[in-house]
Amino acid sequence: MDRNNVVPRINSLILHANQQYLNLISTSVTADVEDYSTFFFLDSQDKSAVIAKNMYYLTQDDDSKISAVTLWIIADFDKPSGRKLLFNALKHMKTSVHSRLGIIYNPTSKINEENTAISRGILAAFLTQKTRFLRSFLGQLAKEETATAIYSGDKIKTFLIEGMNKNAFEKKYNTVGVNIFRTHQLFCQDVLKLRPGEMGIVSNGRFLGPLDEDLYAEDFYLLEKITFSNLVEKIKDIVENMGINSNNMSDFIMKVDALMSSLPKRASRYDVTFLRENHSVIKMNPQENDTFFHVIAIVDPLTREAQKMAQLLVVLGKIINMKIKLFMNCRGRLSEAPLESFYRFVLEPELMSGANDVSSLGPVAKFLDIPESPLLTLNMITPEGWLVETVHSNCDLDNIHLKDTEKTVTAEYELEYLLLEGHCFDKVTEQPPRGLQFTLGTKNKPVVVDTIVMANHGYFQLKANPGAWILRLHQGKSEDIYQIIGRKERDVKQGFPFFLRRHEGTDSQADLEDIIVVLNSFKSKILEVKVKKETGKIKEDILTNEDEKTKGMWDSIKSFTIRLHKEEEKEKDVLNIFSVASGHLYERFLRIMMLSVLRNTKTPVKFWLLKNYLSPTFKEVIPHMAKEYGFQYELVQYRWPRWLRQQTERQRIIWGYKILFLDVLFPLAVDKIIFVDADQIVRHDLKELRDFDLDGAPYGYTPFCDSRREMDGYRFWKTGYWASHLLRRKYHISALYVVDLKKFRRIGAGDRLRGQYQALSQDPNSLSNLDQDLPNDMIYQVAIKSLPQDWLWCETWCDDESKQRAKTIDLCNNPKTKEPKLKAAARIVPEWVEYDAEIRQLLDHLENKKQDTILTHDEL
Ligand code: UDP
Ligand code: CA
Repeated sequence: MDRNNVVPRINSLILHANQQYLNLISTSVTADVEDYSTFFFLDSQDKSAVIAKNMYYLTQDDDSKISAVTLWIIADFDKPSGRKLLFNALKHMKTSVHSRLGIIYNPTSKINEENTAISRGILAAFLTQKTRFLRSFLGQLAKEETATAIYSGDKIKTFLIEGMNKNAFEKKYNTVGVNIFRTHQLFCQDVLKLRPGEMGIVSNGRFLGPLDEDLYAEDFYLLEKITFSNLVEKIKDIVENMGINSNNMSDFIMKVDALMSSLPKRASRYDVTFLRENHSVIKMNPQENDTFFHVIAIVDPLTREAQKMAQLLVVLGKIINMKIKLFMNCRGRLSEAPLESFYRFVLEPELMSGANDVSSLGPVAKFLDIPESPLLTLNMITPEGWLVETVHSNCDLDNIHLKDTEKTVTAEYELEYLLLEGHCFDKVTEQPPRGLQFTLGTKNKPVVVDTIVMANHGYFQLKANPGAWILRLHQGKSEDIYQIIGRKERDVKQGFPFFLRRHEGTDSQADLEDIIVVLNSFKSKILEVKVKKETGKIKEDILTNEDEKTKGMWDSIKSFTIRLHKEEEKEKDVLNIFSVASGHLYERFLRIMMLSVLRNTKTPVKFWLLKNYLSPTFKEVIPHMAKEYGFQYELVQYRWPRWLRQQTERQRIIWGYKILFLDVLFPLAVDKIIFVDADQIVRHDLKELRDFDLDGAPYGYTPFCDSRREMDGYRFWKTGYWASHLLRRKYHISALYVVDLKKFRRIGAGDRLRGQYQALSQDPNSLSNLDQDLPNDMIYQVAIKSLPQDWLWCETWCDDESKQRAKTIDLCNNPKTKEPKLKAAARIVPEWVEYDAEIRQLLDHLENKKQDTILTHDEL
């Protein structure tokens, strides 16, 4: 624990707070701390220098020793909190090797002789006593008994210590003025931005404060250790060999450290020399007769990094005059092409006007001379914290066949939202408050968006835009049980949080303030929010289901009222269906699936569709469909969190969304959801599935069919890993499943699934059918209720005889025939063709209407 690289204690104020340094270098001004009126007019730097110059110190017993770490404690010592700080600082001084201690007085109230009794005692002692007695006497003054006695009239001299110079002390105590306290208070206010009475600490010029928690002797030790092992050790070595008067040495070290530490850290410069530079190197000369930058770049050209660097270098070349050497540092042997994409980094040398300016299109990425035969997908890679959507495109961006396309393929993207992300913890349990909901809004519209906190890292995300926002706990359970007690902002670049504001204290005070979040840049904003359960609510849990508590008289009354409530809810009885789709083909399937759901139920339906990958056309049509067929819908969005392993392939990303975010995609009020694959046709009332008893399992899936014998050789789950993992349990198909979201959230199923996903996806060969393998793999931790076989029929695995009983049919892939889905649809499901034609008609109708309005618009 004594090693230099060991942090002996965690204190986020000391370890993570924003580094703030005082400038202690004096200009020519000389002023006295007693001279308030002169001090008043000094600027911050001079104020700091004057304070430093006039500081008295408690040093180590051996006065002549250099103190490499100078600590100042700032407080009102006529208050218990200030005395406690002094007490702990003194405790640290007993064992410290490097520190000396100075005092800054920050009185709370108007300063007079009475309310500075202890402070004056401290000051007088500093002015008159030797180290050994000074320390014991300060210890005496730091005690509460002493203070109480003095305030109630006891003379301070009765507390003096044997061996002290009592005369000198008493004289000083009676004559010392209070001007120094006024000066110090002004310094605290002007330079340290502390309100009267607030506490803080300065360590070699680095200011930490305001302190709102106790700082213990161990914290002082941590601070000393951190300060010492940064630069001070080296500075001390140099200073000791300089032969200056030892009196000033400690001051000198403090000032040099404050100055050096406050400078931005810079990497040192070194030259790169190359053995040879004849091959695999591109050299370009600068424009002549001008100063130039020498740029050396080394890349492995077949990497994503190189794709990005190419554009960076091009842009750099436009901004500066440069002489460049670009080394191709290639891998020697490759078994397959490591890159499968064409990439353009959109970066302009100058600011461009945006899309609304007619004369320019805004920044673009252009792909020319792309090979025509492969099937391509157009995809945008965006900075973290951006939600970008396609607003226009002239073809199916998921399936681009350049060979069959005459025109240029174009797509227009829009930055729709900036994410506000965060991590939330319960201060008492240090656990994430699972299920806690936040809302984000403005003064006039308090709730614009809401979200749920995950157990994984207490993570949450909210869609926002530039501006000032108010973050609150969701009305209802979240707000009833919890209160927000603090927040920090995490600096993404530095990777650790820096301190913004914290409100501590009594319960009533704490929740008075709203948390205001200002989104004022395109960079990610990540918050750290601390919450605490309200007093009396310690045992309550957001995710506990009221219905399940049926003990006691009161509860039975409650459950009676809940039942009444349920009657009302009957009217609000809706079938919640979730689906995902990307690409025009799957969107066509999706519309048909939706229609087939509606045609087989009398219950009102609400569709929840993942917005992230829907095409502009689909988004345009869906409101019209909703009107035509009478359903509700909501497009849900969630950005794949940065800490969860990313997928690069579109299809696998979609699969991830099918299973990984079920707990956070929908509002807490939605308690059951049925996922239906886009390429599925429903033939039965899904209400029956919604109301199916899951026997306490969080979700229900249908097992794979065994009945089509000729596919035996393809049943991968019958052998190898799956056979031994499942033992005699079934392997389930993920095309259709029903989720009891209440149960799912309560057992933290989402968190467990993500945890296991993170572990397994390390191996790229694992989870080859991500959305299906994951729940099957987790069957022992997150139970699956097996649904009756009829719920899902697919031709690949189920025999023809069972088809007539099928409640839904999935067009699942056939590994043997690899028949295209479109062809399979018409062949396997007769009504599919009818549904398709019906929707086609609606789309044509909408298209005509649109043309008409454009025409009339033009005529006008
Ligand atoms: N999906 C999609 N776009 C794709 C691939 C898949 O939207 O390119 C969605 C769609 O909802 C589909 C589901 O993911 O129903 C599962 O994929 P698929 O049906 O192709 O798998 P299969 O049933 O053939 O195993
Ligand atoms: Ca499918």
